[in-house]
Amino acid sequence: MRILLCTGNAGKVAELLALMPPGMEVISLAEAGLAADLPETGDTLIANALQKARFAHARTGLTCLADDTGLEVAALDGAPGVHSARYAGEDKDAAANVRKLLGALQGVVDRRACFRTVMAWVAADEERTFEGTVEGIITHAPRGEGGFGYDPVFQPLGEAHTFAEMDLRAKNALSHRARAMHAVQAFLSDRSAVR
Ligand code: IMP
Repeated sequence: MRILLCTGNAGKVAELLALMPPGMEVISLAEAGLAADLPETGDTLIANALQKARFAHARTGLTCLADDTGLEVAALDGAPGVHSARYAGEDKDAAANVRKLLGALQGVVDRRACFRTVMAWVAADEERTFEGTVEGIITHAPRGEGGFGYDPVFQPLGEAHTFAEMDLRAKNALSHRARAMHAVQAFLSDRSAVR
């Protein structure tokens, strides 16, 4: 089976490739002749994930899988949420996003947060969405060099390390994205059992 992975984010690509079912031929946006930045103008993660996958499917006819992710911080009433990428501005600067988040939480004792990923699957005959979450806390300062985005300040509950202090395997053992991908994997294996 061939699938177009609808993200230009190298960090997401690396994590998702490691979670793809065996035998899946994965095509990148560049290989499909599409720009790395697909439109995402919706108000929800589901709307944005579907928008990206539908956009790519309409242009290529390929089966498409898109990811939209948000960081929901309890003390900020769920912000930045669906606005996580542009939290500190239109240029989607990860370091600026992290600085703004730590500034917003300065002196705040409640550090609870949740990463939420929605994966949208769009094929000629079917559309589905899948969700994965992980609970954690926002640290007081960035730690670690790995991962991307908010990883240096997100420490999953029960763990001693931030996502940026983990290697890809450790992050994929418990991340929001991996949990959403497990749901995709279950859907694909049910589907191939039926067909
Ligand atoms: P989007 O899904 O590409 O729109 O990502 C939303 C924002 O969350 C961006 O700033 C990403 O860098 C960030 N982000 C997405 N996934 C992760 C993750 O697994 N760890 C840390 N930050 C992430």
